[in-house]
Amino acid sequence: MKVLSVASEVFPLIKTGGLADVVGALPLALRAQDVDVRTLLPAYPAVKEKIAEATVALAYDDLFGGPARVLADRVDGLDLLAIDAPHLYDRPGNIYLGPDGLDWPDNAQRFAALARVGADIGLGAIADFNPAVVHAHDWQAALAPAYLHFSDRPRPRTIVTIHNLAFQGHFPLSVFGALGLPDSALSLDGVEYFGGVGYLKAGLRLADAITTVSPTYAREIMTPEFGMALDGLLRSRAPVVHGILNGIDDKVWNPATDSALVQTYNALRIDMRARNKTALQNKLSLRPGLDPPLVGVVSRLSDQKGLDLLLHALPSFIARGGQLALLGSGEPSLQEGFAAAASAWRGAVGCVFGYDEKLAHLIQGGADFVVVPSRFEPCGLTQLCALRYGAPPIVSRVGGLADTVIDANEAACSAGVATGFQFSPPSVEGLSYALERAVDLMGNPSAMRRVRLNGMRADVSWRGPAERYAALYRSLVKTAA
Ligand code: ADP
Repeated sequence: MKVLSVASEVFPLIKTGGLADVVGALPLALRAQDVDVRTLLPAYPAVKEKIAEATVALAYDDLFGGPARVLADRVDGLDLLAIDAPHLYDRPGNIYLGPDGLDWPDNAQRFAALARVGADIGLGAIADFNPAVVHAHDWQAALAPAYLHFSDRPRPRTIVTIHNLAFQGHFPLSVFGALGLPDSALSLDGVEYFGGVGYLKAGLRLADAITTVSPTYAREIMTPEFGMALDGLLRSRAPVVHGILNGIDDKVWNPATDSALVQTYNALRIDMRARNKTALQNKLSLRPGLDPPLVGVVSRLSDQKGLDLLLHALPSFIARGGQLALLGSGEPSLQEGFAAAASAWRGAVGCVFGYDEKLAHLIQGGADFVVVPSRFEPCGLTQLCALRYGAPPIVSRVGGLADTVIDANEAACSAGVATGFQFSPPSVEGLSYALERAVDLMGNPSAMRRVRLNGMRADVSWRGPAERYAALYRSLVKTAA
């Protein structure tokens, strides 16, 4: 079966968040399910650098204001189709934001172009590749099902995956004229959204199936609390909404082979992990020693991630001898808050602000626990990495965090299945109590070891999720036949 995956970022070529990890890893896992995926993305400068040998698969005289070519190449095992449209994508810096930190003013056109090309390929524009399914990821690709819906040609089946409902691609009505959709598309059953144009909304309305990245988030987004104004629409489409958990790339995230660690280890040699803790303490100017419970954070610094709760929970945690190693970038106010904490508690709080793949691995391999106190979390990848690296996650009980971490309560401990800590609701008190429980667990080495090992043995790979996606693709194609 052939599938076209359409997305605005793909690891390892270009990444701003978990979306790229998912889009980069799933095609490789789907190969074992006999699903042949090609991935369409914009040829930003970082992408173009890596596809120098590409062939031209498709050309446009005018794609939203300029000429464009679709370049085909295989990079790191991924079959890529990259839209080389310099007027849209040849820009330095962040792929979504201009130098002023605001969205590029033509993002509506940039990502309509991505979806338009996705739809064209879905309709057979590339001779040797006729996908049975077009799988659009997030708002940037979500117009693809709309273009296909309003085409009068035989079309492939369509899926929209929601990686984060907070980002919706909501634009003023004035963008509609340039989209090349029929006037009838500007309706409640089409792209119209609160008096403007909604890209994600259109995809959710018109795709044959909707997936999101955990079963719990799939239920949450149908409620007003988590639905971000799309809960009503999602409820009306409930029969075609599926929650499929993400996995992680177990070759990239493998403590037994990870070159970013000073000491590799596995479940049988877990004690060797201590050397990574020492290296991490060293790197972040934390007081050396194996006794202090060291919690790690690898995160975007945004309201969603609930790290303001951690700032407030810090005093009592530090008072109990705890340490924090934080790697993150994002909102300046949070950055300032953690910088202030690092100077107030020298030796106990160490922060690095920025994006650093290598340090992210060392935190996973060196911290005793990894904290993810999100207010909402579609799936979350850092807690999956933490499980695999033997750093029990401390998470709020929302979305994918609720689905992937087994709280170390009495029942789970006596059944021998606990993998971390959950707290609910996401509040300072809830997090503080979870941190206390984590400190207590550290005080009981055999129980701590058990929880670490349970996590390391959990299957967080893409194998199971890939089976579920393949089954969904097949069921869609079958119902169409
Ligand atoms: P989101 O996509 O909402 O940011 P996820 O947990 O789904 O959150 O995915 C985040 C991914 O980005 C993980 O792979 C995490 O390790 C990585 N990451 C986040 N912040 C940083 C950072 N500052 N440096 C390196 N990697 C980071």
